[in-house]
Amino acid sequence: MIHIDLPEDVKMILNILRSSGYEAYAVGGCVRDCLLGKLPKDWDVTTSALPLDVKRLFPRTVDTGIKHGTVTVLVKNEGYEVTTYRVDGKYTDGRHPENVSFTASLDEDLKRRDFTINALVYNEESGIKDLFGGIEDLDNKIIRCVGIPEERFDEDALRILRAVRFSAQLGFDIEEKTYLAAKKLKNKLALVSAERIKTEIDKTLMSVNPGHINLLTAMGLDKIIFPEIEKADQSFLKTALEVSACELSVRWALVCYAAETGAGEECFSTLTLNILHRLKFDNKTKDKTVLFVKTIQSGLPGDAGEDIRIRSRRLVNRLGWENTDDYLSFLEAVSIAKGNGTTEVYGLKKEIEGIRERKECTSLKELAVNGKDLIECGFCSGTELGKTLDFLLEKVLIDPKTNQRDELLGIAGSYEQPESD
Ligand code: ATP
Ligand code: MG
Repeated sequence: MIHIDLPEDVKMILNILRSSGYEAYAVGGCVRDCLLGKLPKDWDVTTSALPLDVKRLFPRTVDTGIKHGTVTVLVKNEGYEVTTYRVDGKYTDGRHPENVSFTASLDEDLKRRDFTINALVYNEESGIKDLFGGIEDLDNKIIRCVGIPEERFDEDALRILRAVRFSAQLGFDIEEKTYLAAKKLKNKLALVSAERIKTEIDKTLMSVNPGHINLLTAMGLDKIIFPEIEKADQSFLKTALEVSACELSVRWALVCYAAETGAGEECFSTLTLNILHRLKFDNKTKDKTVLFVKTIQSGLPGDAGEDIRIRSRRLVNRLGWENTDDYLSFLEAVSIAKGNGTTEVYGLKKEIEGIRERKECTSLKELAVNGKDLIECGFCSGTELGKTLDFLLEKVLIDPKTNQRDELLGIAGSYEQPESD
């Protein structure tokens, strides 16, 4: 019998449920990950106990999704989702089951689960229960639907993207019938909310095989969820994703850049914004992704004849230190995937390292004078002040040695505002 080393808290939860006369098992991702020798992110429990019974048995619980049978049991600072065996009602809109009903049958509960490898349960008394050949599929590295794939994707099209996501996270293939059904039912993805779609794509991009994002195009799913990437160069995108840092904005910037380049866009276009808006990105990730795509498209700031060190400072100024390392990773990935190698990017990295080590000023924040200093010296506040500070920063970007209070005040004194137009 296969043995899984359950964490003490999970053992305790299973024991309390079982000694109170209910069935209880660890279920889903945690069992799958243990069998793969991976550390599960979280532990879920499936039980014959009804939500109110679960609440009665444990002192600290949260009603996470009580309508769907889920109660979170808190032990110390950890939460464990305990869900009552359930059967999903009819899906009328391809989004949510109209209703769920609780059942006393574990088998019924397992039938509603998406893939064979996610329909495994375990407890110490019964060992693994594997109704649909999940262990064999784990051994063969296969993602296969529980039941008839067309029906399962028709019920909930998000499962199509979950198949892609698990294939990327686990490095598995999607079994043929499952694959064909996913392609066939791709239009159903139009019913899935942007948030759920984004979560799955994020997980795919952040996985160990982010290049599996190619499956979206290979299966024609991109037409429904983001047609902008249809023309992206797939082999460029795969290589770039696989050599890049595992950071969400970097990876999304690669997707958007590949989309823009594939569409022949050399200047920033609405294409990236369309993707980011449709998928309801948070502002921080959106801004960073846009910054990266725009910056690579406009090239290293400064004139072609200008010293690389000055241009590197201009680049850091544009990006901010907080984004610089990620941008360099993005740039390096693009360069490798284009077959241009790393020499140029390494040169830039070295320059930027030097700027960091020498603590050279690359932003208004680091300038040796601020607006208050200028006002004290008789400058008027307002837009002119901002222009003067920008002028001083420009001087300092060209020559960092000028970043001294007195010197800058002197320069500011002789600064003549250009005629406003
Ligand atoms: P992860 O490691 O990402 O948490 P997971 O397999 O635990 O992977 P969850 O989204 O946490 O995935 O879901 C827990 C379990 O619930 C799954 O293993 C699966 O059995 C079931 N499940 C989740 N989403 C669906 C769905 N859309 N359709 C059917 N079953 C699902
Ligand atoms: Mg999980």
